[in-house]
Amino acid sequence: MAKFEDVVSRVKDVAETAGRKTGELVELGKMKLKIADLRREIAGAHEGLGRLMYDSRKSGEPVDDMVDACIDHISALHAEIDELEERIMDSKNVVRCHGCGAFNENTAVFCNQCGAKID
Ligand SMILES: [Zn+2]
Repeated sequence: MAKFEDVVSRVKDVAETAGRKTGELVELGKMKLKIADLRREIAGAHEGLGRLMYDSRKSGEPVDDMVDACIDHISALHAEIDELEERIMDSKNVVRCHGCGAFNENTAVFCNQCGAKID
């Protein structure tokens, strides 16, 4: 017969493990969302860059400064994504799909993006 204190401590252990796991999942989810936001922002910046070039060619007005600022901005966004991806990879609970590069929980059998087998 288990002692009452043992049961209590086991319940506490399980609760703590579950809490920690949820925290990591939330963190990974947040970072993935942030990366998706940054990718959208990069796409928007590329579109802006295209519009800038178009307007410049049409009007003949030089836009070099704005183009440089735009390129710097895009590079900064890429750097931010790289940093987030590094942080995700530092977490040992995450594996990267060999097929599409998506991040998956290390317990995943198949990729949550492309369905490839995770090994
Ligand atoms: Zn995949």
